[in-house]
This record gives sequence, C-alpha cells and structure tokens, in this order.
Amino acid sequence: MNTQPVVEADGLVQTYRIKRGLLREPAQLRAVGGVSFAVQRGRTLAVVGESGCGKSTLARMVTLIEQPTAGTLRLAGVDAVGADAAERRKLRRAVQLVFQNPYGSLNPRKKIGAALEAPLEINTRLARAEREERGRAMLAKVGLRPEHYTRYPHMFSGGQRQRIAIARALMLEPALLVADEPVSALDVSVQAQVLNLLVDLQHELGLAYLFISHDLGVVRHIAHEVMVMYLGLVMEQGPKERIFARPLHPYTQALLASTPAVDADRRAPRVVLQGELPSPLDPPAGCVFVTRCPYAAPRCRAERPELREVDARHVSCHFAEQFAAAPSP
Ligand code: SF4
Repeated sequence: MNTQPVVEADGLVQTYRIKRGLLREPAQLRAVGGVSFAVQRGRTLAVVGESGCGKSTLARMVTLIEQPTAGTLRLAGVDAVGADAAERRKLRRAVQLVFQNPYGSLNPRKKIGAALEAPLEINTRLARAEREERGRAMLAKVGLRPEHYTRYPHMFSGGQRQRIAIARALMLEPALLVADEPVSALDVSVQAQVLNLLVDLQHELGLAYLFISHDLGVVRHIAHEVMVMYLGLVMEQGPKERIFARPLHPYTQALLASTPAVDADRRAPRVVLQGELPSPLDPPAGCVFVTRCPYAAPRCRAERPELREVDARHVSCHFAEQFAAAPSP
C-alpha cells in the first residue's frame, strides 16, 4: 500500500510586506507562521479558525497560487517549492480548489457542460466526444441529471452550483481537493447534502481533502484530523476524536463552546471567547491568544508556548499538561 502523503508541509511560512503610508516603513504581516502537516489518500485535514487566522493563505500556498516565504511543501513526494515552471504546472493539476461561492467562479454565459469540459480542453488532448463523455459522467457522479449539462449557472440552486464546482474541480482527477469554506454560503439542510457528497467522493476516488472552515459543526462531520489556527499559528492539531472529546487549548475550547451542535458533549470547560482578534500586524508578545484567554498568566505574556505533544495531539499552551491531567468537567 502506498503510504506516501498526498501533501506534506513542513514549517510553512507566509509573510507579506504591507505599505503604511509615505513616511512609515512597510510592516511585516505574518499570515502563516510555520505550519506542518501531512494528509494521506482518503483522509481529511480540517483547518479551523476565525477569519484572519491564516487558513486561506495556507490554501493558496498548497494550491501553488502563492509561493511560501519559507518551509517545504511536497505534493505526492515532489518538492513543490523548488519545482520549475513546467513541473509546477503538472503539480497544479493534482491539486484543485473549491471556493465558498461557486457562482463567482462559474461563467454565467457558459453552459455547465462547457465549464466541465474546459479543464480537459486546456490541459489534455482528448477529443471533443471524449471530453463530453467524461463531463457527463462527472455530472452524474455529483448527483445532477443529464439535462443539466446544457443549462446555464443561473438556473441552479446554491447547492447544485456547489456540486458543479466540485465536479469541475475533479475533471483533471486531482489527488488533493482544497475546499475553502465550501458549504458556509449554503442553507444548513443543503450543507449536509454537499458534505455527504464530499464524503462519498472521497471513498470512491480516494481523494485527500484540505478542508477549510470556521464552523466546527461542519468539521466534525467530515474531518479525520483537525488543525486549529489563530493569528497564523497552530494552537492545537491532532485526531478529530481526541480534540472534540477533550479540547486542551483554551482557544479550541472556546470555539467548541460557541458551536451549539458540538457543545453537546460538554467535556470541556465552557470558555467564552471575548474581545476582538488582535491585528496580525501587531500580534501580542508571548502567547498570541493571551489577550483573549481566561487562563492567561504572567508567563503567557513573556514566553511563546512551543507546539508539543500532549495527550495524543499537539498543543501550543503552557498549561496544556495541567489541562490534560485535570478531571473531566
Ligand atoms: Fe492561555 Fe497562556 Fe495557554 Fe496562551 S499559553 S492559551 S494565554 S493559558
């Protein structure tokens, strides 16, 4: 069995220089500050956090839209950072992206069939009939009917459009699908259908998913591994079961407590998230969560906690061992 991860990141960093007027020096914005993970075939890593936590920047690096400032990224074992232009083009086919708003990414003047065939037209030498055959087969795979092939995007509901976007992303048979908030614009009942479709496609095609979401209710449905990010850094990372059963980082506890469907377990202290996310241009010294953490101590302001293994996951909190040893609430 091939155990080579589909995607493997080690210490990925993304910083941007931000102009601040004529008289001031440009500032450094650290959008992602050293993130490591691996996703195997048929597995889903969910990246969770509020907007501005770095999850979409991570998606842009993994889909090769942006080069990381530092760190390594391997796709099916191939170095994607050091790859030349021709190799990057090849790698791009193996990683496809599904966005939050499928309508924005579908050309309103193009019929669905043409939208599905476009990736094949651009990237392969398949004959027209073969392209159509594959497009129609993919349409059926995502649960749409044959007559939908010749319709325009405005004729579909939000959920159907997201099915079309998923179908289009799969036309080049990628190994990894990066889904950036793919269901957050949909009604709750439709969300479940699209999530079930993603799960079925994963089983059928062995796809790896990097699933980006702010919603832990959704993540619980689809993830195998979870990575919780805050201001570009990983707060907690590990198997979904461990994290949902007993979150150790106060930020994870707060996210879970604010997700009603997930909080049912109540096996974590009820941490209420207070205050605003600090500016990523001026992150707090020490622990980045210190300004909103109910357990903040003087040490937290002085020293940044290491991400380290505690109770079968990785946690970045000085007191993670104590939280793990405390009796369940
Ligand atoms: Fe809270 Fe301190 Fe842990 Fe940071 S290190 S999460 S401030 S207790």
